[in-house]
Amino acid sequence: MSLSLSTEVSDISKVGKTIAGRLKKLGILNVEDLIFYYPFRYQDFSQVSKISELNPAESLATIKGKIEIIENRRSWKTRKTLTEGLVSDGSGSIKVIWFNQPFLTQLLKTGDEIYLSGKINFDRYGPQLVNPIHEKAKSETIHTARIVPIYPLTDRLTQKQIRWLIKVSLSVVGQFKDWLPESIKQSLKLYPLSQALNTIHFPSDQNSLDKAIERLKFDELFLFLLQSQLIKKELKSAKAHPINFLEESTKEFVDSLPFSLTNDQKKASWQILQDLLKSQPMNRLLEGEVGSGKTVVAAVSILNTILNKYQGVLMAPTEILADQHFKKIVDLFSLSKIKNQPQINIALLTRSNQRIGTELSTKGEILKKIKSGEIDLLISTHSVIQPGVEFKNLALVIIDEQHRFGVEQRKILHHKGVTKGFSPHFLSMTATPIPRSLAITLYGNLDLSIIRELPKERKKIITKIVDPIGRQKSYDFIRQEILSGRQAFVICPLIDPSDKLGVKSVTEECKRLKEDVFPEFEIAILHGKLKPLEKERIMADFLAGESQILVATSVIEVGIDVPNASIMLIEGAERFGLAQLYQFRGRVGRGKFQSYCFLATEKSGQKINARLDALITAKDSFELAELDLKLRGPGEVFGISQSGWPTFRIASLFDYHLIGLAKEEAEKILLVDPQLKNQPLLKDKIEQLNSDIHPE
Ligand code: ADP
Ligand code: MG
Repeated sequence: MSLSLSTEVSDISKVGKTIAGRLKKLGILNVEDLIFYYPFRYQDFSQVSKISELNPAESLATIKGKIEIIENRRSWKTRKTLTEGLVSDGSGSIKVIWFNQPFLTQLLKTGDEIYLSGKINFDRYGPQLVNPIHEKAKSETIHTARIVPIYPLTDRLTQKQIRWLIKVSLSVVGQFKDWLPESIKQSLKLYPLSQALNTIHFPSDQNSLDKAIERLKFDELFLFLLQSQLIKKELKSAKAHPINFLEESTKEFVDSLPFSLTNDQKKASWQILQDLLKSQPMNRLLEGEVGSGKTVVAAVSILNTILNKYQGVLMAPTEILADQHFKKIVDLFSLSKIKNQPQINIALLTRSNQRIGTELSTKGEILKKIKSGEIDLLISTHSVIQPGVEFKNLALVIIDEQHRFGVEQRKILHHKGVTKGFSPHFLSMTATPIPRSLAITLYGNLDLSIIRELPKERKKIITKIVDPIGRQKSYDFIRQEILSGRQAFVICPLIDPSDKLGVKSVTEECKRLKEDVFPEFEIAILHGKLKPLEKERIMADFLAGESQILVATSVIEVGIDVPNASIMLIEGAERFGLAQLYQFRGRVGRGKFQSYCFLATEKSGQKINARLDALITAKDSFELAELDLKLRGPGEVFGISQSGWPTFRIASLFDYHLIGLAKEEAEKILLVDPQLKNQPLLKDKIEQLNSDIHPE
């Protein structure tokens, strides 16, 4: 059958069910997905050496030669099959050994001209290649004698398989219509799309690889910025209900809290209240470190909204977080001693939990009461965006830890907010540190409030880097702490790219801890595959102290509050970005106990330590974000996904220069052609992006 971009992988010849299943685990379903599955690094085998010139200083090399001899034999000692060969290139000859690949003698015959790339060993008989990659010397190679792409893979797919599949797929790369306007390509000297896609997989040299990466990064940033500018325009023309600042009640509410607000909290609350006064919708981002107290700032704006007889909604990224927000906010309002305070009705609506205040409720009842206006505040997940949830007079939307600002908001506008031409005010909250200048570039229309200060009584978390040798000592320490009543989090990195939900890494680590380290403690696990109800039960048990250790993936990255948990052990710490580590660590130190964070590394080394040290020295998350950039360097950031923020395949938030260019071009094009009438391909692409956003 002839190939097209939408051909499913199982219809590519030679791809069976098994391989298709393994590809699916990586999110690859069709030819297009294969083409967009970028390498995460490259191995440079482009230098083809003469056998006589191989020298012990180079450990990896590529040669080209003719097979003189090739045969299988069984090793006496190990009883394994060895394939041995002799290859010569006119300058000399080299011995080649493969282990356990007897089929090679079927593929490779005496007289064949081949490339071999791999590790060179030297013994007293001269150089020798062990388990090299082989490829017949035809016109174009994909595994040897070039810059070879290396892909993130699961254990049962091989680099050779995926390279071959991608090579086959690239034969139809020309079917992509290049959506980037010609004028932009010309003025920025960007590669055409198909050339960039061909090159990112199979570059002819470093220079063209750089150009390909540049084009593909530019694409992502440009589309993202174009999309957010279009949204910005839409939001700008909307009208909102002004919400009066009820100074007296606000003061009574704040005075009734068991703590006094930090200056930054006061300032942020003030900025928000000022925005709410306007008849244009607020569009503000509240950035504040984990534990800096964003919830109470949100509560102040909610209070004013409700007292003005409007409704509000608070959307959390997960059900667990929606639960915690609900509890916190119900608590905050139950404390408040506002004179003549009307009854405030707060509802929680998630798949597994429906409540109104302290009472259990049902989805039907809640929906009805939202529509009639009896419910003042709805706390939910992003699924609240779905049609079907109708408000009477929604005036405030708070979005927690949602990194696609604008897009969510637009959905709400379309589905519900615009009651009689009015849009709600939007407040987004995040703990991801992002420098102000960058936030403004990315989200142009957004106003920013930043909480830098942590509440005063917070103790500094003692942070230590633990190399493989020091591990036992930290286990002993954790045991002591647990025996004195505390609890611990253990965070596992994802090692296997197919293990997206972290099931495997968490299960293995838990087993190891149970069997070898802490057999005396109750250990619970949390990963992405658990049903919402199970997750909730596990969290509730941990919160209630029924388990002492919680082994988790990054699902606990945002928001969960367990004051008794005072220890965090992060496995494979070097695999995480600093900002992400920072956020993990913020899960402890939330109660009155001295807290500890152990950064356990798999390898030790100066470079790793220097980076992790930044967590100990940086004074806040903003400084850390900058340090992260400096220490990793832009090259290394490539391919590593950052926590939160727009998720790009290849671009990163640190591509400052490209972000600037992309923004400029997006603005330019909308200035002359605000509806993208002359850019049908680009318009299609943006529409496709808009529709790709699924609520939870
Ligand atoms: P985050 O910004 O991470 O969402 P939270 O709003 O969950 O932080 O607040 C973390 C904890 O700090 C909560 O238990 C909250 O009650 C408490 N808190 C908030 N503000 C203050 C303050 N000014 N002083 C002391 N504790 C505070
Ligand atoms: Mg929070």
